[in-house]
Amino acid sequence: MSKWVYSFGAGRNEGGAEMRNLLGGKGANLAEMAGIGLPVPPGFTLTTEVCTAFYENDRQYPADLPGQVRDALTHIEKAQGLTFGDAKKPLLVSVRSGARVSMPGMMDTVLNLGLNDQTVKGLAAMSGDQRFAWDSYRRFIQMYGGVVLGVEHHKFEEIMDHAKQDRGVTEDTQLTAEDWQRVVAASKDMIAAETGKPFPLDPEQQLWGAIGAVFGSWETPRAVTYRRLNDIPGDWGTAVNVQVMVFGNMGDDCATGVCFTRDPATGENMFYGEYLVNAQGEDVVAGIRTPQPMAKERSKPDEKPMETEMPVIYRQLLDVRSTLEKHYKDMQDMEFTVQRGKLYMLQTRNGKRTAAASLKIAIDMAKEGLIDQKEAVNRVNPSSLDQLLHPMLDPKAKRTLLAKGLPASPGAASGAIVLNADEAESRANKGEAVILVRIETSPEDIHGMHAAKGILTTRGGMTSHAAVVARGMGRPCVAGAGGIAVDYTAQTITAGGHVLHAGDTITLDGAAGEVYAGLVAMIDPTMSGDFATLMEWADANRRMKVRANAETVLDAETARKFGAEGIGLSRTEHMFFDPQRIGAVRQMIMASDAEGRRAALAKLLPFQREDFKDLFRIMDALPITIRLLDPPLHEFLPHGEAELAAVAKALGTDVAAMRRRGAELAEANPMLGLRGCRLGIVYPEIYEMQARAIFEAAVAVAKEGKTPIPEVEIPLIGTRKELEITRAQVDRVAKAVFAEAGRSVEYTVGTMIELPRAALTAGKIAEISDFFSFGTNDLTQTTFGFSRDDAGKFLPTFVEQGILPKDPFISLDVEGVGELMRFCVENGRKTKPDLSIGICGEHGGDPASIALCEELGLDYVSCSPYRVPVARLAAAQAALHGAGDRTV
Ligand code: PEP
Ligand code: MG
Repeated sequence: MSKWVYSFGAGRNEGGAEMRNLLGGKGANLAEMAGIGLPVPPGFTLTTEVCTAFYENDRQYPADLPGQVRDALTHIEKAQGLTFGDAKKPLLVSVRSGARVSMPGMMDTVLNLGLNDQTVKGLAAMSGDQRFAWDSYRRFIQMYGGVVLGVEHHKFEEIMDHAKQDRGVTEDTQLTAEDWQRVVAASKDMIAAETGKPFPLDPEQQLWGAIGAVFGSWETPRAVTYRRLNDIPGDWGTAVNVQVMVFGNMGDDCATGVCFTRDPATGENMFYGEYLVNAQGEDVVAGIRTPQPMAKERSKPDEKPMETEMPVIYRQLLDVRSTLEKHYKDMQDMEFTVQRGKLYMLQTRNGKRTAAASLKIAIDMAKEGLIDQKEAVNRVNPSSLDQLLHPMLDPKAKRTLLAKGLPASPGAASGAIVLNADEAESRANKGEAVILVRIETSPEDIHGMHAAKGILTTRGGMTSHAAVVARGMGRPCVAGAGGIAVDYTAQTITAGGHVLHAGDTITLDGAAGEVYAGLVAMIDPTMSGDFATLMEWADANRRMKVRANAETVLDAETARKFGAEGIGLSRTEHMFFDPQRIGAVRQMIMASDAEGRRAALAKLLPFQREDFKDLFRIMDALPITIRLLDPPLHEFLPHGEAELAAVAKALGTDVAAMRRRGAELAEANPMLGLRGCRLGIVYPEIYEMQARAIFEAAVAVAKEGKTPIPEVEIPLIGTRKELEITRAQVDRVAKAVFAEAGRSVEYTVGTMIELPRAALTAGKIAEISDFFSFGTNDLTQTTFGFSRDDAGKFLPTFVEQGILPKDPFISLDVEGVGELMRFCVENGRKTKPDLSIGICGEHGGDPASIALCEELGLDYVSCSPYRVPVARLAAAQAALHGAGDRTV
């Protein structure tokens, strides 16, 4: 018999933190907390395997599940002295989802389950509070009606509004037990009318309805979107947690809250969080009432921090905080409820945090001795470093403050005001920078939040949906900016006397919680302090070198600033796009004979030489892989009439001849055309010029006392013979230049591996190649037979349908391209054991691909300059054998 249900608390603790895959994060941690003696209301977890079985079996539960649920329920009934459905002493439960990793706001929760027209009386008698009992019942009907029965939320709101109008009041808190009774009756009638069925009053039926809704919500579009954005496989499934209800809304000695053991925005080591007196859990996250801070230190004069309002509970929570941090050795995000002066822990998990907080917490915890340096290196998600490298507002820049809100997620962003998520997405797709402005956000807004550069809400706290999701996504966010009025109909926002329209530009400072009108100047971040420490620890733990793809002075300098250990790819064709040079390049391409080409190349030689000199100087004593010309020709062909005429004039020919030549050179798929070494072989004078420029520059810089290390790279090699021919050209030029200069420089000649044929014949190619560098952009294109030019049209569909796990142009296809690489490395090194091998495709900056490169034993990865820190950290994590429990 399979075990589908695991109990926690009340002396029967069957799970633990290590069982997260089976019990989901929430269930595993509830069991763990109960196990270490924290006050957890008892309950049980239906495993993720139930979810998988449910979907595999046409939405049917395993036959032995109901019996196991009943048994677990009976256990907690006994422990609590309460009975599910009992009119006098009813047991009430919450039903919540809990996937392996947290999916904030994506799954649904039902509280107060077990209430009906009889049990509500029992609850009233037990609590001595009619109003509370009927308020709980109406909350249950609303939640159940919405989540399980699919009734729209506003229908319940209308009933509540009527009740308030009838009584002439504006706040829920002013309604009495009798009012709630009427709301209950009206809600049940409305549900019956909407769904065609009476509201289920049998607690067992309620329970199975809620369980079904949680499992059902795993496949809702918003859950599917969240998973797609966060690389969470669909077959993980969710668990369901059924837990005894505790109430934070039984009076002023009750409360509910969410807190973090450290500040999730900055990482500062201080107790951080929000709570509400006399409230039920959902009230804090929903952002309907503005919560109060936990610590006195963090409170404003008009606020009521828990530290002074409920000092005993606050001290107990401080103990829980330290117990949990010591136990989990990571920052925790916990939920608690205080029922009549007694503290209960409802959840703990590794807290989501900003990149800055992740970095600070990792470094601080290592310095505190809670974790070691290696673990600290493993704790920070390399991709999140991107956020730290992004700009912030220039303190000296002029600005007009519109409003202040909460500093929900750091970073600065400017963009056009957009008031709904769909529009944010469509405008962002057109390349526009947008700021999504909402009164509050909900899971339906996820795609717009992802597309926006920043998010602004006018309601809700630091744990509101907007704040939590923005932090996870690394989007700057200002939340709860109450001074701004949003008018969705008029498409305006009004703040401090300013009226701005959708489309107007605003700037957010997510670290300060400030909103500015217009564009505010930004500056690059500094890379000192904790960042430098992390990089130092990463460097101490990595084996592979990290180089950058760079060809301009700016790129090369940026690369060095970020710690690049050389250049792994200098695309020389990028040096030709300059307006001063492109004319000569076009002449060279359009020339119909070698003489015409030579004349054009002669104009380019001095430019190339100067470029290389600059690079050699910046990368003194570091290797530079210079790739000889490899343009898809169409990138350079003259387009308009004027350009055609100019090239014709320079070549001393007419436009008609130019057109003919253009037609000869036209290619159906230029990425597979006369590129790379093919060009160098057909027109040898091109590579000769480039080799001359490289060696003349190297000799000149060497004479300045520097140490240039040129690695001349031949692109798009498919056969040994191609390399033999092109290499011979390069060596010949080197010899000539060194003889002319009376001085030589050490150099190597190698090849890119960009074609399956090159990978398959690596053993032979290695005989005459000093190094290999995987050009995985082309290798992916040619392995799949997908054109780089147009695969974007269908790859998203392939990923959506699960045909490919990820876009293979972003993250290496381990199974296919990776296998070719493995074969190539093995056979290349069989021929030449010390053959230097690197990667310079876009994958060189992708952490998952970097892990494969480590496994294959590559010597270095090369990526764009801004990704160098990401690659340094990812390479260290790869060397340390995978990152541990990454939380960002
Ligand atoms: C590659 O193909 O991976 C590569 C680095 O070269 P390019 O992108 O310039 O074709
Ligand atoms: Mg290439």
